[in-house]
Amino acid sequence: MKKIRIALIGIGKIARDQHVPALAANPAFELVAAASPNHKLEGVPNFKDVQSLIAGMELDAVAVCTPPQIRYDIARYALEQGKHVMLEKPPGATLNEVSALIELAASRNVALFATWHSREAPGVDAARQWLASRTVRKVQVDWKEDVRVWHPGQTWIWKAGGLGVFDPAINALSIITKILPGTLVLRNAELSFPSNCETPIAAQLQLSNEYAADVRMDLDFLQTGPQTWDIDVETTDGRLKLSRGGAVLRINDEPVIESPEREYPNLYACFEHIVRERRIDCDVTPLRLVADAFMCGRRIEVEEFHE
Ligand code: NAP
Repeated sequence: MKKIRIALIGIGKIARDQHVPALAANPAFELVAAASPNHKLEGVPNFKDVQSLIAGMELDAVAVCTPPQIRYDIARYALEQGKHVMLEKPPGATLNEVSALIELAASRNVALFATWHSREAPGVDAARQWLASRTVRKVQVDWKEDVRVWHPGQTWIWKAGGLGVFDPAINALSIITKILPGTLVLRNAELSFPSNCETPIAAQLQLSNEYAADVRMDLDFLQTGPQTWDIDVETTDGRLKLSRGGAVLRINDEPVIESPEREYPNLYACFEHIVRERRIDCDVTPLRLVADAFMCGRRIEVEEFHE
């Protein structure tokens, strides 16, 4: 079968750490070029922006790995030019951006894939299966990491549309919206904004679903020492815990899954099928819950953040 010629747009941390090795290991794809304002990728032609990339290269698809605030214009241009598009999370800075991209992709009969890499973590599918036949009572999500360690120099996170602590926490939302039955709605939210930032540095959320599950989320971007990406689920019939962002699954304190993560290899395996079938796979549920938190959450001002 013909290889899918793909280019990466936005050569930052995630493009280098995950997209490049995942593409190198997947024979269905050929990484043919990169586009980024400043950084270059070794071994392929490099362009400054999506317009010069598409004018200068023969390609089938692009993966948009830029900060979210500029994702829409780039993806829109690529779709208009008939290219298949993979979107890093979050798929847009607003919900309507994503709706517009879905309409455009449908009208051009090209593929569009909104990725949620944490849903590919090793324990997530098994967690969903175990929970499907149980009644969930309580869920406690602790997503606490040190922004200075994981996001050094990423000033876009603190600008409107960059999501702040929700940049990692949307991963937790992507997992719980996959493993819990029903539809989660926001009940309460408190967002802490540093006085010099446009996005929150911490947040507490309370959600529930139609089965009366009580879901609490404690999100923090200033966690030093051990880092916490845990989801604890209490059911009427035992406890389930996903830790390390979904890499480890324990049921009633017994380890069930602890295997090396293959999130991006899995995403590209999905994207191959989505491209070949010219499908649209764009679930906005995690982004919608973040939007609800920004819309209805109480805002607290906290001390300035400096790197
Ligand atoms: P990053 O390190 O700041 O990289 C973003 C890159 O986008 C920058 O290197 C920048 O390129 C490029 N860029 C900026 N404007 C551009 C434009 N107009 N056209 C093309 N490229 C442009 O950020 P990141 O950590 O890779 O995150 C990027 C996205 O991936 C975010 O949405 C994030 O949520 C998601 N993500 C990140 C991680 C992670 O662990 N970091 C994990 C999963 C998903 P130049 O340097 O060339 O200016």
